[in-house]
Amino acid sequence: MVPVMSALPLVFDAPRRGKPPRHLADLTRDEARAAVAELGQPPFRADQLARHYYGGVTDPAQMTDLPAAAREALVGELLPGLLTPVRHQEADGGRTRKTLWRLHDGALVESVLMRYPGRATVCISSQAGCGMACPFCATGQQGLTRNLSAAEIIGQAVAAAAAMANGEVAGGPGRLSNVVFMGMGEPLANYPRVRKTLDALLTPAPHGLGLGQRSVTVSTVGLAPAIRRLTDEGLNVTLAVSLHAPDDELRDTLVPINTRWKVAEVIDAADAYARRTGRRYSVEYALIRDVNDQPFRADLLGRLLAGKLAHVNLIPLNPTPGSKWDASPLPAQREFVARLRAAGVPTTVRDTRGQDIDGACGQLAAADQVDGVPSVAVAPTPSMEPTVELGAEGDE
Ligand code: SAH
Repeated sequence: MVPVMSALPLVFDAPRRGKPPRHLADLTRDEARAAVAELGQPPFRADQLARHYYGGVTDPAQMTDLPAAAREALVGELLPGLLTPVRHQEADGGRTRKTLWRLHDGALVESVLMRYPGRATVCISSQAGCGMACPFCATGQQGLTRNLSAAEIIGQAVAAAAAMANGEVAGGPGRLSNVVFMGMGEPLANYPRVRKTLDALLTPAPHGLGLGQRSVTVSTVGLAPAIRRLTDEGLNVTLAVSLHAPDDELRDTLVPINTRWKVAEVIDAADAYARRTGRRYSVEYALIRDVNDQPFRADLLGRLLAGKLAHVNLIPLNPTPGSKWDASPLPAQREFVARLRAAGVPTTVRDTRGQDIDGACGQLAAADQVDGVPSVAVAPTPSMEPTVELGAEGDE
């Protein structure tokens, strides 16, 4: 018997709560040039603003290439502060830093910057809360507050790049090298905004952060149609699929979206992505004691993935408040790894950076307070049945 912690509804349609103010990062280059022209400035000022933004400059006083008289207006109109840091928490000797951000409407999200030898990765949020209702995930238990705008997502990466450049993370000044969409939210349920974010991350400076495609990881619960849509985009970013169970019976309870798109469909979609990109996808699997860590499930997973362009990333479950579940003991983890490897499936076990500041995978749960009232997930009505028009809001 699998203990079911709660039965939150699956929520696809994000509540609308008023758009964040317009921001350069939401605009195409042409749109930004037009917006600058409307403010009575030559269009090339848009490029100057972009250089400052992606370079981490937020103080108008430092934008000395802009005429002093126009600075405030340009910055106010095109680079409004969308993310206000509420607090930073550090762990791992200052090499892990979790930031709680407040958005324009009071919604809260978190991002986590992790420095390793030779690389620095920021884990960013794509939604405030999450509608996917996975019972072992703190964010999933919060429900969905709203989608983030592209600029709200991009801003988390830009802030991390600036923190690295400014030497705010232990180890001296450095460069942000990786971005993973493993913070709060289901990125493929906020598709258009995440797509725009990918452009901003991959576009070379000064119009983007200039990250390498394989240094950017999109992690999904397995929205098969959206994985196929991503496949058609022609990007080569790393795809991670949160599987957590090799069989539909168990996955239906651990990853409720499985009731909609089954293991076989998700793996099919990921395989198509791997065929198109020629790159391995990663299968995320949180090892939960006596729930999904049995040797027979390792064998099932091994058979499912043998011969595929896939890699398994095991994550010992990070505890979430109130959960009865805990991580698999080490011997069970080792046995699981050994069986997968014996099946020929490349397998690693992820470290649990930031666990002591609740910054590890699945622990992000910035309690959302708007006007002092915690928001709750919206229960689906029949008309809100999941559709394949993911993230289809009218702002793109
Ligand atoms: N919605 C995306 C991103 C979520 S967070 C997705 O599901 O992939 C990134 C990873 O952390 C996912 O693989 C998620 O399943 C995993 N995760 C969630 N809660 C966890 C927990 N308590 N312990 C370990 N991993 C967890």
